[in-house]
Amino acid sequence: MKLILLGAPGAGKGTVAKRLTEIDGSVQISTGDILRGAVKAGSELGKEAQGYMDRGDLVPDALIMGIMGNRLQEPDCAKGFLLDGFPRTIPQAEALDEILTKLGIKLDMVVDIDVPRDVIFDRLCTRRTCENSDCQAIYNVKSMPSKVEGKCDKCGSAIIQRADETEEAIGHRLDTYNEKTAPLAGYYKNSGLLKTVTGTSSDAVVDAIKAELKI
Ligand code: AMP
Repeated sequence: MKLILLGAPGAGKGTVAKRLTEIDGSVQISTGDILRGAVKAGSELGKEAQGYMDRGDLVPDALIMGIMGNRLQEPDCAKGFLLDGFPRTIPQAEALDEILTKLGIKLDMVVDIDVPRDVIFDRLCTRRTCENSDCQAIYNVKSMPSKVEGKCDKCGSAIIQRADETEEAIGHRLDTYNEKTAPLAGYYKNSGLLKTVTGTSSDAVVDAIKAELKI
């Protein structure tokens, strides 16, 4: 399947994407994960992106398109892809349209996961992430703690609170989302691809997507 997952930070895009990859081998592409990997590796991309990310600002479109133009042409995308956290601005969506047209790829659907702001705020404040950039497993101190406190169940690395998941940065990320990313719903509505799923449970979102795609 070839999907875009829209939704505020903390709406559950990553969890839903991971579940969908299990259905048909489509690959999850998270620009946030790619950028965090670059920061950890200390690459040029990581050095350019880090300040924006720590403040909860969006990384400039040109950097993101540099990543995504190449990523969508990698062989693992042939089976399908779930775009998680991309596009995040109208210019990114327009640039993505151009890339997809050039590659002859048609999207199946754009899913907008709509979750109330107070639920998201609470989720992000209590979210923890494995610091291993190849793992980046997600935990929640309230609803999904790791078995051993502070250690990832999957790879044993330390579990940390992301620099952009302090209350201040979260508030800023949600404001940025409303200003820059929420208008994408209107953009994709015009193309007839948009499906809005309201709900706080990832299971319900996955079920709604499966029903819509008849899989
Ligand atoms: P995420 O894990 O998707 O919430 O992304 C974490 C941070 O990475 C965001 O707050 C942005 O600073 C940056 N980022 C991720 N994806 C994008 C994107 N498509 N455009 C601009 N910045 C992005």
